[in-house]
Amino acid sequence: MPFLEIKSLEKRFGNVDVLKGIDLAIEEGGFLVLVGPSGCGKSTLLNTIAGLETITAGEIHINGRKVNDLHPSERDIAMVFQSYALYPNMTVAQNIAFGMEIKGVPKPERDKAVNDVSETLQIKHLLDRKPSQLSGGQRQRVAMGRALVRRPLVFLFDEPLSNLDAKLRVDMRTEIKRLHQSMKTTIVYVTHDQIEAMTLASRIAVLKDGILQQFGTPAEIYNHPSNMFVADFMGSPA
Ligand code: ADP
Ligand code: MG
Repeated sequence: MPFLEIKSLEKRFGNVDVLKGIDLAIEEGGFLVLVGPSGCGKSTLLNTIAGLETITAGEIHINGRKVNDLHPSERDIAMVFQSYALYPNMTVAQNIAFGMEIKGVPKPERDKAVNDVSETLQIKHLLDRKPSQLSGGQRQRVAMGRALVRRPLVFLFDEPLSNLDAKLRVDMRTEIKRLHQSMKTTIVYVTHDQIEAMTLASRIAVLKDGILQQFGTPAEIYNHPSNMFVADFMGSPA
């Protein structure tokens, strides 16, 4: 049974159809990448999974539970955005621990979680710094740390690397891949970068104008694109 399942999902803003009947599924521990041109509905789809947007029709299931009507906080997901808003007056450690503090997690447990996560992300030496003292890549790691300590069922990433320079993007891509392999968590990752999609995904969903063009493994999508759009977009051999 798929861990995350999306059935006939539709989303309309006013009288504009943004998602026009999306069917997708990903197994536990899978890495689903949503890819497509700007404005095709990637963020909207991610936001409906997170519960940040209501849906017009269809169903979303996470871990066997229909979540259509659940508040974001009840869905057990964590989201990392492209602009990572860290609290400027808090240290890195405080930023990472903040969500746990709100939830009432005791201090020793919080400290251990911050320690473990910062080790995984290799940011232990930065724990006492303020966000203004960090580079873009370091801030992105802290943002990830903040999401990771929550140990969510599903991780949602919305173009988390698009504000970073090319070299750092490649490093962080490797980092995310390593994290996924070590944590075995289920990920839905949005990007408009085909190479990022090909290197990270266990499954790729190609979207255009709110319609799913193809859903398959990176090799299937690349070698057997279902139409000209997918072939062009993914740079498949002619
Ligand atoms: P992507 O992330 O693929 O670039 P989005 O999901 O952000 O695309 O947007 C898809 C379409 O939905 C765009 O045409 C956008 O203008 C529209 N849209 C997104 N959010 C809203 C909203 N809150 N109200 C109206 N239209 C929206
Ligand atoms: Mg977007």
